[in-house]
Amino acid sequence: MDTARWTEVDRYFADRLRPRDRVLTESVEAGSDLPQIQVSDLLGGLLGVLARTVSARRVLEVGTLFGYSTIHLARALPVDGALITLEYSPEHARIARENIERAGLQDLVEVRVGSALETLPGVAADIDAPFDLVFIDADKQNNPGYLDWALRLTRPGGLIVVDNVVRGGAVTDPQSDRPDVRGTRAMVDALATLVAEQRVDATALQTVGSKGYDGIVLAYVR
Ligand code: SAM
Repeated sequence: MDTARWTEVDRYFADRLRPRDRVLTESVEAGSDLPQIQVSDLLGGLLGVLARTVSARRVLEVGTLFGYSTIHLARALPVDGALITLEYSPEHARIARENIERAGLQDLVEVRVGSALETLPGVAADIDAPFDLVFIDADKQNNPGYLDWALRLTRPGGLIVVDNVVRGGAVTDPQSDRPDVRGTRAMVDALATLVAEQRVDATALQTVGSKGYDGIVLAYVR
């Protein structure tokens, strides 16, 4: 198996299960000068299905980029739902806001600019009810901190999703000095403690596709 084959299979399913979507296509075009590290369309579809499965009304996203996963998640919300997405780069946030407006989701989505570990305390202070779903997809070295906040801010019965946890298999290397790998491993260790304490049920899913070999962690808050 290789990336060309995975991409072909991605396309097979996307052609059948993911209707052509002008807004998403235009959002990718608008973000074409930014790193193309958004979720795949199929993974975006999974986020939407998960949000609907937990009947999400409130979603927190860490790592906006140009708003591609944001749009997938926000579309799964009811009209009185709310999504807060946290982004470090003002330029990414600017393009994300344009894309969110293009999708007609500006009344549901708030983009907060800054380093997420610095903006999260403000989010915690501002919300009057916990989140139903938290999607973590920013700088991987800070994943332990993001998991900690996600756990505090997610309701029992809610879901935490962490993207890019496999890193092409590098996650299994305890000697790795890569900050992303170390951050991911530390997050998984923290999650293991939460599982042992029966505070969450968690699992991991390896993924292949047009974005290569990676994976997600899913944690259900008990
Ligand atoms: N979730 C997006 C999607 O799938 O469409 C992709 C997000 S991209 C993988 C990661 C984003 O996190 C980038 O836009 C980056 O600027 C942002 N980021 C990096 N460090 C951050 C930090 N400390 N706080 C908030 N955002 C950060």
